[in-house]
Amino acid sequence: MTFDWNAHRFSGGVLALDLANTVIFRDAPERSQDRFADPGEVPRFAAAAANHRRSEWGNVKFNPPISHAAIAALIEVREAINRLFRTAVHQGGFRPEPLSDFLRLGSELVCDEPERNNLILPQPSEGRRELSLGAAAFLSGVRLFEPTRLERIKICPNCHWLYFDESRNRSRRWCDMSVCGNRAKAQRHYSRNGKPAGNNHV
Ligand SMILES: [Zn+2]
Repeated sequence: MTFDWNAHRFSGGVLALDLANTVIFRDAPERSQDRFADPGEVPRFAAAAANHRRSEWGNVKFNPPISHAAIAALIEVREAINRLFRTAVHQGGFRPEPLSDFLRLGSELVCDEPERNNLILPQPSEGRRELSLGAAAFLSGVRLFEPTRLERIKICPNCHWLYFDESRNRSRRWCDMSVCGNRAKAQRHYSRNGKPAGNNHV
């Protein structure tokens, strides 16, 4: 069965975090699910990401990894992105091991890019760009190093996704209000009234 890579799946707001979010419920191992457990989802994610990340990348094509080794390398950098930014949210900065893992794995990915590919940080430019999904996710992560951007990264209390809060006063509480925000609202209503939400307004 194929998976619907809709707008909600790109609530991370930037490619690096969207890639990390291909695993849901990261802080609850018994509920955790990896959408890339089926490797067939990797190219589908890459195609959908190019559409949903235009505000970050402009006109872009993300080449998905093909070989087993290349898919394994993508998953390794995905996990490094997750560790780096999740630790940063919890601890308010970078720590040596997650940072060096991220840089080492990212360095290996950019090293494998064809010579013609421009590895400038993401920007919504007019010109068509093409690069590997892994290298693009790495560059997207590097762009978050700026402290004023780093402090906008948050963790959704419902699904544990990482997301970039672009709201003016950094007031977003959920990855996606229409999904996780509503679910939490319904749960609060249920525990208060002992019956499912929907009968009364909340
Ligand atoms: Zn969420």
